[in-house]
Amino acid sequence: MTQTRAGQVVAQGGFTRGDVARARADTPGCAKVVHLNNAGASLMPRQVLDASVRHLHLEAGMGGYEAAAHAAEDIESVYGSAARLLGCDRDEIALVDNATRAWGMAFYGIPFRPGDRILTSTVEYASNFIAYLQIAERTGARVEVVPDDEHGQISVDALRAAMDERVRLISVTHVPTNGGLVNPAAEVGKVARETGALYLLDACQSVGQLDVDVREIGCDMLSTTGRKYLRGPRGTGLLYVRRDVLDRLVPPTLDLHSATWTAADRYDIRPDARRFETWEANYAARLGLGAAIDHALGWGLPRIQARVTQLAETLREQLGEVPGITVRDLGVRRCGITTFTLDGVAPDNIKSAMAAQGINVSVSRTASTRLDMDARGLAEVVRASVHYYNTEEEIAALVSAVRNCSCSGPGTAAGAGTGAHGGKLASVR
Ligand SMILES: *Cc1c(COP(=O)(O)O)cnc(C)c1O
Repeated sequence: MTQTRAGQVVAQGGFTRGDVARARADTPGCAKVVHLNNAGASLMPRQVLDASVRHLHLEAGMGGYEAAAHAAEDIESVYGSAARLLGCDRDEIALVDNATRAWGMAFYGIPFRPGDRILTSTVEYASNFIAYLQIAERTGARVEVVPDDEHGQISVDALRAAMDERVRLISVTHVPTNGGLVNPAAEVGKVARETGALYLLDACQSVGQLDVDVREIGCDMLSTTGRKYLRGPRGTGLLYVRRDVLDRLVPPTLDLHSATWTAADRYDIRPDARRFETWEANYAARLGLGAAIDHALGWGLPRIQARVTQLAETLREQLGEVPGITVRDLGVRRCGITTFTLDGVAPDNIKSAMAAQGINVSVSRTASTRLDMDARGLAEVVRASVHYYNTEEEIAALVSAVRNCSCSGPGTAAGAGTGAHGGKLASVR
């Protein structure tokens, strides 16, 4: 909060004090905990909880199939909400169990051939990179990591220079799990459009905190999850696939929902993105996801983005004044994820010291974003990820708790912290 000259209290980022109070009143968890683990799983608003629980009661009372039929219109409208959120059409949306499944249905659907090149970034999530390695082994495709620029974001110049007709896929993470970096997704999109390579964006940490529009970004496929910045239930995720590329992908699995068994020796794949779904789904969770998306749209993503970005900058400024703290976030543009280390103290000890005071933070480790962590000589960082319902008072509480932390134990996170990843395109396989 800033105190204006007239003494009027104004909240940051387009949220008034009243807005923040309303957001918190709608969030039962706010009364119980200082939740700064929104990059792990955000606190669900009451509206999400209600939508899910209402449907569970319906299932218990009338039967699961009957409940789905009863709520069919609401269930269908989740696609419309997701399409509004991402700026696409509803037939370009698949609703699935999590971001990993969404991403995998797109990635494993690409018919790679020997010598195909997959260009990726230094901040790839482990699950994505493991999949690259597996597909490289299986198909003879090559995985190449595009270096960062001097700010730590993917070098769009290096990407452009690396392009040729063998590049089948550009696969990039928008916001990594381990820091505030926002990769220039739309600039990457321009390169993809210039060349005709497929472009897959892992937007798991950006959707819900940033204003993400698939047409503006120019990606062909985008995956995200429900439980992180979108504030939906666990076990939900969604995939966007641009209509024009649907037929360039082969769904890695099919069932009687994604395809129809039309003759003894024939099946037809359905025409829309739901070909990447399965028949069975957790409708209570899916309705919760719809409520979460509607809730975010109600606030407006540009407003959420402004609020989250400013709160995180406030946190970084205040953390930066604490002796021994190094803020670790890279990038020209930074989001709500804030990471830091404290000299001589292991991140896990900070996490448990904070937990003892009712403050949730988490720890990011090498094995989830190995290339980036290794390049920076970091084993672990503390991650404090803010959302719009967090307050300046909560941020001050974290900073003060870290400042007074008598956390013991050796630090394991010391590193050069230059943010440099070297200048050359690295071929991994
Ligand atoms: C969390 C995360 C994922 C995986 O999301 P799930 O919903 O757990 O499958 C993928 N990419 C990034 C960058 C993430 O942070």
